[in-house]
Amino acid sequence: MSDPCIISVAITGSVPKKGDNPAVPVTVPEQVESTHEAFEAGAALVHVHVRNDDGSTSSDPEKFAAFKEGVNRHCPGMIVQFSTGGRSGKGAERGGMLHHKPDMASLSTGSVNFASIIYENSPELIDDLAGRMMEHDIKPEIEVFDLAMLYNAAALVKAGKLKAPLHVQFVMGIPGAQPALEHILDFELGELKRILPDATWVAAGIGRHQLEVNRWALSRGGHCRTGLEDNIKFDRDRLAASNAELVARVADLCGEYGRHAASPAEARAILGLPQAAQAAA
Ligand code: ZN
Repeated sequence: MSDPCIISVAITGSVPKKGDNPAVPVTVPEQVESTHEAFEAGAALVHVHVRNDDGSTSSDPEKFAAFKEGVNRHCPGMIVQFSTGGRSGKGAERGGMLHHKPDMASLSTGSVNFASIIYENSPELIDDLAGRMMEHDIKPEIEVFDLAMLYNAAALVKAGKLKAPLHVQFVMGIPGAQPALEHILDFELGELKRILPDATWVAAGIGRHQLEVNRWALSRGGHCRTGLEDNIKFDRDRLAASNAELVARVADLCGEYGRHAASPAEARAILGLPQAAQAAA
């Protein structure tokens, strides 16, 4: 049996971009439909930001709740991860939907510059979001945009503010944050093993780095993230047709590395999440 790879799909970013791909789902029904296609293509986890119907950024907890309900209904067992990042509201508002108890939520453990903004995650905000995740029994996905965030995550575990084992994502290739370089991933994986030996991990490459970072993760036993939030193109010459197309590309690649796309049940076991009632055998 080959080694399962959890394919995460980040279906919709928090901010509309100029020249955005029209395949990016915006309304909740569009998001559920796009997630369902990605699920059929091999994704076991969905990462979501919500938008207003005009495409602008939203932090409406009810939209998150409606999305979760739709995915639970149409994609049995799929892991739902709410984003507390990007520009999904300001400050503590970014955790205003956590009482809807997704399986997971993203948690950035530090601040960093992006191309034109400060992505601000103060110690106070991190503590607040971590506390709400503990309270609602939500597994965090630690978003590492720069090296210090890895050590901050380990410090939160030590302080009893987060529960081990953590699931850590290395996000590479955002202008202003850590670059997409293979030796940097290797360095960080070495440190992960040293300071959080029981952690699982995933890597995400932004823009044109998406596919190469997928390959680096597959070859090192990690998990993969793809989707239109991170990259709107299939290749240099054309826009991706859908989230499902990007997921299918990773699912196809798995075989080259002795891997297969994890089923929702496998993904839940790997991440220590309870099996979903609908997915239970
Ligand atoms: Zn996101």
